[in-house]
Amino acid sequence: MGSITLDHVNKAFGDVQVIPDISLDIKDGEFVVFVGPSGCGKSTLLRLIAGLEDTTGGTIKLDGADMTNAPPAKRGLAMVFQSYALYPHMSVRDNIAFPLKMANTPKDVIAQKVDYAARTLNLNDYLDRRPRALSGGQRQRVAIGRAIVREPKAFLFDEPLSNLDAALRVNMRLEITELHQQLKTTMIYVTHDQVEAMTMADRIVVLNAGKVEQFGTPLELYRKPANRFVAGFIGSPK
Ligand code: ADP
Ligand code: MG
Repeated sequence: MGSITLDHVNKAFGDVQVIPDISLDIKDGEFVVFVGPSGCGKSTLLRLIAGLEDTTGGTIKLDGADMTNAPPAKRGLAMVFQSYALYPHMSVRDNIAFPLKMANTPKDVIAQKVDYAARTLNLNDYLDRRPRALSGGQRQRVAIGRAIVREPKAFLFDEPLSNLDAALRVNMRLEITELHQQLKTTMIYVTHDQVEAMTMADRIVVLNAGKVEQFGTPLELYRKPANRFVAGFIGSPK
């Protein structure tokens, strides 16, 4: 299960209203992309959902339960960052196992879950390597593996591919959408890249200056952009 409901969520940093008022309903199992120009509030919105920032107003529900002020660990979500945040001195195996070790998970359960993540991500042959002996794409997969072992209600990706070169980016897009098809877990994916949004999403949230300009399928956005901003940003004919 992994439905996410935002009801009149608001976020200000000091006097600056970064997110004036957002309501969204993300269904269990959906792949939703937040897209918009740099500085429009994508990361802030994701961090509010993750619990890494406190809201200044509104409510956030996960599977119907009010989590507005719950700490990140209580939410059962897993964030995947662009910087990978891998531990350089640990093997791939230990990097993936890290959240389970922190939770005092029994050793045999850890082994089983790491094995499952490694098989899912084709990392079996790399488990004893250190991160520096991996390619960028492999490192990104290790970061995703560390999220998979936690069996989250939803995966939250913040521009996970922006450090990769263009060819690899296309590859990783496919890998992430395939992972979604396999796991059927809710995913929210933040990007400023329209092509990524249009090719990966079940539904897209177009953000501009902290506001939702449109929330719809790629086809809806393309055929019926809500306004000039969406049309211009998505590159639809209107
Ligand atoms: P995006 O991810 O879409 O590029 P962000 O969510 O990172 O945008 O930022 C949205 C706005 O909020 C920006 O104007 C940014 O400067 C501001 N902002 C983000 N985090 C903070 C913070 N911790 N303190 C003050 N302003 C912030
Ligand atoms: Mg950002």
